[in-house]
Amino acid sequence: MRAKQQWIEGLRKMRRNVYLHGDKVDRDDESMIGPLNTIGATFDFAQMPEHAEVMTAISHLSGERINRFCHVHQSREDLHKKQDMTRLLCQNVGGCTQRCMGTDALNAISCASYEADKDNKGATQYYQNFLQWLDRFQRQDLVGCCAQTDVKGDRTKRPSQQDDPDLYLRVVEKNKDGIVVRGCKIHITVAPQADEILVVPTRALLPTEKDWAVSFAVPGDWEGVKLVVRATNQRPRQHYPKGFLQGTTEAMVIFEDAFIPWERVFLCGEAQHGGVLALLFALYHRHSYSGCKPAVSELMMGTVALAAEYNGVERERHVRDKLAHMILVAELGYAAGFTASEKGAPQVFMPGQGLVPYGPGTYIPDSIYCNVGRCLSGEAYYHELETLADISGGVPSTIPYEEDWANPEITGLLEKYSRRNPGVAPDNQQRLWRHVGDILCSAYGGVMAVAAVHGGGSPIMEKIAITSQYDINRRKEMVKRLAGIDDARNPAVAKGAKK
Ligand SMILES: Cc1cc2nc3c(=O)[nH]c(=O)nc-3n(C[C@H](O)[C@H](O)[C@H](O)COP(=O)(O)OP(=O)(O)OC[C@H]3O[C@@H](n4cnc5c(N)ncnc54)[C@H](O)[C@@H]3O)c2cc1C
Repeated sequence: MRAKQQWIEGLRKMRRNVYLHGDKVDRDDESMIGPLNTIGATFDFAQMPEHAEVMTAISHLSGERINRFCHVHQSREDLHKKQDMTRLLCQNVGGCTQRCMGTDALNAISCASYEADKDNKGATQYYQNFLQWLDRFQRQDLVGCCAQTDVKGDRTKRPSQQDDPDLYLRVVEKNKDGIVVRGCKIHITVAPQADEILVVPTRALLPTEKDWAVSFAVPGDWEGVKLVVRATNQRPRQHYPKGFLQGTTEAMVIFEDAFIPWERVFLCGEAQHGGVLALLFALYHRHSYSGCKPAVSELMMGTVALAAEYNGVERERHVRDKLAHMILVAELGYAAGFTASEKGAPQVFMPGQGLVPYGPGTYIPDSIYCNVGRCLSGEAYYHELETLADISGGVPSTIPYEEDWANPEITGLLEKYSRRNPGVAPDNQQRLWRHVGDILCSAYGGVMAVAAVHGGGSPIMEKIAITSQYDINRRKEMVKRLAGIDDARNPAVAKGAKK
């Protein structure tokens, strides 16, 4: 397993294909300090003996101990540990761990590449390609990001109906050595900090949409790949440093007729498995969310509780009610993920068939519980922000800049006029309000709020997954029996007849 510094050294050696603020920049550019800190923690925690059980796993390929972020889930226990690892790290880095997307993608690819080979009866070797790629990924303790979301053009049209077919990434050429791909993946978290970019399709595909059914992995600085990046960090502190500085990068990852050799291709033309792969990545990612969102809610409730204490209102009834609601959402989200792990199995839901075995034995969390947990707790995020704004009052949005606070000419005055709870030092008060400002009214806070809604798919996608897989007819039958309804009494209605 690598140490944080070794990972950063690796990033420094990569080709400069990262565009930021009109320039090409290094991957360890100062503006990306937040994600470097955050992903760095995924290496640091794996070295701590007290966290070894959740942070590391034994590779099913090499039998060696690896960072759990590189692991393919072999059991329900692995799913539980991934959820707990995610929660632990989020508690410590103050939010998103930023390394789970790669993990979720490689687990999804392990399944779809295997099934595609099975259908192709030996004509393809996607799964072998994947295993060879994975062996190196695990031994070198690499960081992956997942490039799933296409730019998608006209939302009402399928990939094959777009005026420009490149609006969903596609294969434009195939030859004996590999494939050539063109397109752009958008919103890709930590793409500049990833050693490898894992590409999977965005959506279900028609049998005629083979060109868009493609999955592969390439190093982040691969020839023909450009990363156009936004970097958002919590506000840097000069005078009153934070305990941990978080941040994120999101990128448009543009593939300009990039050549991908066959040994890096995990799917190419199998439309049905392309669709399953898209759903599986989203499913694994929603399962990861059942680890991170409870931690984010914990941090939010801790912040609300401190704000209430510093304002001297912690015993007020409405404060306790609001905290209770936050606890409820956090722990229900965790419980949904726990149940999804407990009911996990190497199987997926196929429309018209129900649950069917899928993949080489990789454990897949239960879909209903992943989706209800993600949807419920993701939609709660803006409500949690509202609670924090309510209990904090206006000061997080108007507090003087730290340079003014540190100016000896006015420090005394600012301290005098900012006193609230007499038991709390003014210095600690202003540090809390700055921290609340990072969450409520900073660029970074804004990005995190949108991520809470859309990361892993918009809420409607979760609702579609829930309603298409939940057996509502069985529930109707339950009620008919209780109400004494007998369908035989209903008049026969001819098909297509108008009332
Ligand atoms: C901060 C952040 C980080 C992210 N990180 C990653 C990442 O690492 N990797 C990755 O692959 N993706 C990532 N995403 C992308 C995320 O999965 C998408 O934002 C999400 O799937 C929504 O897609 P979209 O942004 O294109 O919005 P749209 O799909 O345009 O959705 C906008 C609205 O339109 C609705 N809509 C769209 N199409 C239709 C339709 N045909 N019919 C009816 N309604 C429709 C949606 O339901 C939604 O309400 C990230 C997103 C954010 C915000």
